Amino acid sequence: MLKALAKILDIQELDMQMIQLMRLKNERKKELEAINDAKESLRKQVENKRKEILEFAAQARFAEGLIHEIIEKYKKLENQQNMVKKVEEFNSLSQEMSQTDRKKLAEEQHLSDLLDRIAAEEDALKNLEETLASTVESRKILEVEIKDGILRINEEGRIIKSQRDELVADADADIFKIYERLLKNKKDRVIVPIENRCCSGCHIMLTAQDENLVRKGERIIFCEHCSRIHYWQESQVPDSSATAPKQRRRRAVKT
Ligand SMILES: [Zn+2]
Repeated sequence: MLKALAKILDIQELDMQMIQLMRLKNERKKELEAINDAKESLRKQVENKRKEILEFAAQARFAEGLIHEIIEKYKKLENQQNMVKKVEEFNSLSQEMSQTDRKKLAEEQHLSDLLDRIAAEEDALKNLEETLASTVESRKILEVEIKDGILRINEEGRIIKSQRDELVADADADIFKIYERLLKNKKDRVIVPIENRCCSGCHIMLTAQDENLVRKGERIIFCEHCSRIHYWQESQVPDSSATAPKQRRRRAVKT
């Protein structure tokens, strides 16, 4: 294998670890966000419920005031009626009094409905507050675990980063530049071995000539199909045996 590639391969292994680590970190962060969203949504519901109850309470106070006014009016009419002497006036006041009484009944009904509503909303508020409290409590341990996990990931990331910095300082700058550009594109291994005469990146079949060039290791050879850099694993035997795909290709050439 091209010696310069070997060093970049070590860098690549660290980069793969780093990519995996960052994926894990993002997952942890999302879990944390989901917990916070759930708590925030419950807090909002509690807040809205409290506002709703205050609004109903204000309406109830207003209705009470109105009922009080109606009662006062009724008393006044009653006093007036005690003093009138004419039958027409008496009857007219009677009519007004019964109208006032109907208004009072209607307003009392309205107030009673409001008080029922407030009681129901207060029950709902209590339930919401309990749910919020138990959610906060039950997520506490999980949150601490997730936050610890993120700290560990950061620590691990820092170690990988410093190892990588050391390797980069020692690596062939030109090849490293190419490697970084490829990695940015693929976010996956970009220096890959040839396996069974296939690019192990895109799994497309290569020619014997391609394989030989890579095996010689005199210069960098890119995959024609996926642009990854190929290398030859020393433990591998060159694919000179009559494997099925090769046979097929030979026959195809002859005919
Ligand atoms: Zn390829």
